[in-house]
Amino acid sequence: MISWPTPFRPAVPGTGHPVQVFDSATGAVRAITPGPTARMYVCGITPYDATHMGHAATYVTFDVLGRALRDAGHDVEYVQNITDVDDPLLERANRDGIDWEDLAAEEIALFREDMTALAVIPPDHYVGVVESIEPVGAAVRALLERGAAYSVDTPDSDGDDLYLDISTDAGFGAVSNWTREQMLAVFADRGGDPDRAGKRDRLDPLLWRAARDGEPSWAVDGLPQGRPGWHIECTAIALDHLGMSFDVQGGGTDLVFPHHEMSATQAVVLTDQRPFARTYTHQAMVGLHGEKMSKSKGNLVLVSKLRADGVDPMAIRLALLGQHYRTDWSWTDAVLEQAQARLDTWRAALSVNSAPDSAQAVEAIRARVADDLDTPGALAAVDAWAKQTLTRGGADGTSAGVLARALDAILGVRV
Ligand code: ZN
Repeated sequence: MISWPTPFRPAVPGTGHPVQVFDSATGAVRAITPGPTARMYVCGITPYDATHMGHAATYVTFDVLGRALRDAGHDVEYVQNITDVDDPLLERANRDGIDWEDLAAEEIALFREDMTALAVIPPDHYVGVVESIEPVGAAVRALLERGAAYSVDTPDSDGDDLYLDISTDAGFGAVSNWTREQMLAVFADRGGDPDRAGKRDRLDPLLWRAARDGEPSWAVDGLPQGRPGWHIECTAIALDHLGMSFDVQGGGTDLVFPHHEMSATQAVVLTDQRPFARTYTHQAMVGLHGEKMSKSKGNLVLVSKLRADGVDPMAIRLALLGQHYRTDWSWTDAVLEQAQARLDTWRAALSVNSAPDSAQAVEAIRARVADDLDTPGALAAVDAWAKQTLTRGGADGTSAGVLARALDAILGVRV
């Protein structure tokens, strides 16, 4: 699928530091140790509603990670999926009386615009499920052939739904390290069906949904007419484009279980290798005025709405970078106002003819970002330089330009 335009990334003198991030699977901050090319997979949107601030936080966080890896001298091979056929999309399309494909196309277009406005570097492979039915179906078929999948009687279809038998992976649970009780507590709320009759284990995830009346479905050799389950799509797309043991699997903390757990287990069972990803990194949740931001509550802050209201996308990006990715936080008007004020101050400081040396500030951006994506720390270093520039001035005619390039290349902030 077409992604969006790649923003220009200016050259910055020097090189960044080796990058470390928090790995949910081991519960520790760990160095990412890629070869020349770092391989990263970040779970994409289900395109049934516009990009809200939680999505934006996730994609900006992993954009900064990709930029930090590039600054440290790596190439980055980045894959992102789009869940462009799934229950929530079909339900929304039905509710609104529109074609599910039209709804997906509309929301994907809006997402592209939001990402472009926020200066997010696009994935190298932007892959929809609808265009991946064959490889996803092949993965399901391989699981059946390995005896790791089974069918469950499905009276309302000509075929039967297919499930993964999680007992076929002795290491199941290695991504979340959750107890069975913790897993069962969220499974139903996050797309699972613990009470479906005929399953071997209540936690077994759906691999393939047999065709129902009025639902889209595809014919794949060896499978009932149907469509992919959610987790197997990411397993198949990641294996197709990155292979096993890629460097970073990313997404929101709400994907730790079941989505990342199941995606990893399926890959392990398919390949007899582990790990699926070497590091699992998760963006904390973004609320609104202290409440959880969710579609059901109708309190989503949408990037497109802010843009339409004339908010500078760079102020939105700065508001996101002002929070650490591992801490839940709430969007408020004050957060945006502070980010806009910061942007204005930086712009004033960076447009002077002579300024203090900026090498220390550039080094601080690099050091802070490489250290578990401490973007608030990086911003504070720029604040200090801007304050010094505006209060005491300096004699260097090129330092502001160098810092502006570093902000653009490493933090994705265009001033
Ligand atoms: Zn995924």
